[in-house]
Amino acid sequence: MSEHVKCLIIGSGPAGYTAAIYAARADLKPVVIAGSEPGGQLMTTTEVDNFPGYPNGIQGPEMMEDFRKQAERFGTDIRYSFVSSVDFSSKPYKVVIDEKQTILADAIIISTGATAKWLGIESEQRLRKLSGGVSACAVCDGFFFKGQDVAIVGGGDTAAEEATYLAKLCKKVYMIVRKDFLRASKAMQHRVETTSNIELLYNHETKEVLGEQGVSGAIFKNVKTGTERKVDITGFFVAIGHQPNTEIFKGKMDLDEQGYIKTVPGSSKTNVEGVFACGDVQDKHYRQAVTAAGSGCMAALDAERYLASK
Ligand code: NDP
Repeated sequence: MSEHVKCLIIGSGPAGYTAAIYAARADLKPVVIAGSEPGGQLMTTTEVDNFPGYPNGIQGPEMMEDFRKQAERFGTDIRYSFVSSVDFSSKPYKVVIDEKQTILADAIIISTGATAKWLGIESEQRLRKLSGGVSACAVCDGFFFKGQDVAIVGGGDTAAEEATYLAKLCKKVYMIVRKDFLRASKAMQHRVETTSNIELLYNHETKEVLGEQGVSGAIFKNVKTGTERKVDITGFFVAIGHQPNTEIFKGKMDLDEQGYIKTVPGSSKTNVEGVFACGDVQDKHYRQAVTAAGSGCMAALDAERYLASK
């Protein structure tokens, strides 16, 4: 016999846990499937200084521990498993856990997040793991590099937006673009090109991020001429895109061309009745813990109203 739950939440970042807090308080007895990285992207973050309510900042993993405890306080059932497949073709919906157990759910909240893409070079990953000045979020970490020189890799809207954000805080920003043009919108291109402390290095790739315990520089290579250039920087930002974690939902619901779940604007509703999405899996614009948490609240309220209407 399959287990039957009212509200199943897939994913355990700020969106999923906030949805759980609201759903549990509404007596929906939510079950959270925590996924392969319980706590989500914040588990690999150090200082979080921009989440309201923590006047002295907090470490990412500690904050997620607080989220988890708060969700559990109201009776959320958290399972350290992952979802292997879903079937939304008939109600109640079927969700297969760890490739063996099936759970039937009346309402589902998807909060599986997104994963930042990295260049994948050894020095980038080593310094990232040491929290040594390598970051994929300028809005989160730019503050720590106030008045310093930094570099940001990427030529899309995110890189352009983050470069101009960093330019307001930092002395100098090197923007490293692998082609001879920016992919970002014309308006963003204009902003980048007219910001005096951003130096654009077109046709450049990152050869190495320098530093033992923290970033002290980087070597960039001109792919056309082969010339290498060493710059002194203390922060190395990567903004080459995110991958929404939607592999298991492909063909099961509407995704946009980049794989993000489509939601009805101003709500968490997807095109599948009773299935809601919140957090970074449906948001490529803001990607903040606080916006993810806010959308988790929306998803729980939408699920509660949906279940009440049935
Ligand atoms: P994009 O996929 O649009 O851009 C990624 C950028 O990173 C490209 O310039 C790409 O280069 C470069 N890149 C990819 N891989 C590498 C690599 N290995 N080494 C070096 N460079 C690399 O991602 P974004 O996150 O910028 O944007 C995602 C979506 O979100 C887009 O649709 C964007 O328009 C949207 N967005 C909109 C915003 C807004 O409207 N305010 C703000 C932020 C995002 P190449 O061009 O050579 O492929």
